[in-house]
Amino acid sequence: MTPSCLLIGFDGLRPDLVTPDLMPHLCGLKAEGVTFANHVTVYPSETRVVFPSFVTGTTADGHGMIGNRYLDRSATPPRMVDSADAALLERIDAETNGRLMTAQTLGETLKDAGKSLAVLASNSRGATRCLNHKARSLGQVCLSGHFEDIAAPADGVAGLLEALGPLPPAAEPGTPDLEAQTLLTTAFLDHVWPQRRPDVTLLWYSEPDLSAHFSGVGAQETKRAIAHVDAEFGRILDWWRAEGRDAGVQLFAASDHGHISSHTRVSVHDTLKAAGFRTGAAPGAGIDAVIVPGHVGAIYQTDPSEAAIAKASAALMDTEWCGPVFTRGRNDVDGVAPGTFARSLVMAEHERSPDICFCFRADDRVDAYGLQGGTYYDNDRRPGLGLHGGLHPKELHSLAIAAGSAFRTDAVSHLPSGVPDIAPTMLYLLGVTRPASATGRVLHEALRVTNEPEGDQPQAERFETGSSGFRQTLRRLRHAGSTYLTGGWRDEMPDRIASEKVAAHA
Ligand SMILES: [Zn+2]
Repeated sequence: MTPSCLLIGFDGLRPDLVTPDLMPHLCGLKAEGVTFANHVTVYPSETRVVFPSFVTGTTADGHGMIGNRYLDRSATPPRMVDSADAALLERIDAETNGRLMTAQTLGETLKDAGKSLAVLASNSRGATRCLNHKARSLGQVCLSGHFEDIAAPADGVAGLLEALGPLPPAAEPGTPDLEAQTLLTTAFLDHVWPQRRPDVTLLWYSEPDLSAHFSGVGAQETKRAIAHVDAEFGRILDWWRAEGRDAGVQLFAASDHGHISSHTRVSVHDTLKAAGFRTGAAPGAGIDAVIVPGHVGAIYQTDPSEAAIAKASAALMDTEWCGPVFTRGRNDVDGVAPGTFARSLVMAEHERSPDICFCFRADDRVDAYGLQGGTYYDNDRRPGLGLHGGLHPKELHSLAIAAGSAFRTDAVSHLPSGVPDIAPTMLYLLGVTRPASATGRVLHEALRVTNEPEGDQPQAERFETGSSGFRQTLRRLRHAGSTYLTGGWRDEMPDRIASEKVAAHA
């Protein structure tokens, strides 16, 4: 029996929404495998940063996809890169001799080992590409639930696309995206698995993320989307129990980040303008601070001197809405701007990093749906909608369950684990050597048989810095050579939030 791996992704699913009434099938899998109770994502907790972490097995400082959007200063003139644009990603990869990502991906590693990867996703074109951006040149299967034009290999899946019929258009914001999830499930069960038996399949559902963003984290529409993807997962589970498990399929269920709810709108542009900066959303004449739109604050300055970065950082830290702030390191903990942390503390130090990255101030408010986690925000949507990108424990905490012949059953692991650990674990199960650029660890604690010694208890770390009235703290866990972010906070994180993640190992 040759092992293979199937990862089912639920975009933006908070683990506390995985309840028996809302997601009976996913709850059913828990009894048959190992649930990672302290599983976290990377920083920034944005989809198109986390997808590269899934496939490279490392954090943003390793793969370089530093934000959903970033300023590429190595281009002349510097250009904004929006990684939702699949064609742009492929063009950059071609222009930079394959250095769009600065770490080796699952697609490349499996190709080198003579094994196959299939990606099926209902996200944007660019996010789908981020799961295997070299799919075309590697000749590996990549299918979108919405966009025929990004299918790969172009000629190899023509028959499959014909059999599936026309792809449903991307859903209108506020309408759950249901049809594409069903189509991708069918594509895997009826076509991709029986015809190709990929060594690794990544099947990623774009819900409940989309609905959380446009309807609210616990809204009726979002619950409808959650119930739908759970039902689709139920079809996968039926097949796996009947056939897949015995065929050696190791089944992973995961999410890429959680969500918290927006409550108070602010303006980063207004704040920096008041401090004397000429701001813009893209570089250009007369602009000295480019503010990247999104829920992760990212600022690129025309003058990246310490003094200029300190001035902009101070303006941010002077507001009531600013959360943790990071700049390039003065040392291992402090950034060059007084009061800021070093970017390296959150594994976000890369040549593409913004001069300042920050989180909007988050808190432990309970939203209209009874879910914990609130945040200031800067976009043109109404308050009460889902957001992610920062360091609130509810944004970082992500779903991870693994089941199959290699894994223990009905078990819960309380050891810290993270998104970058998934690919190294898959490669280990397949007997493929991991690339040197992968920093995640193999999740030995979940395996039925392992020769790995149990190792020490995880170590809790707490960092603190600040300046003139602004104070920030960051919590991490270290285990078996890996570092996990468990929360970043303006002031001190309340124990009732921090304790969930840290107390068990403090
Ligand atoms: Zn996502």
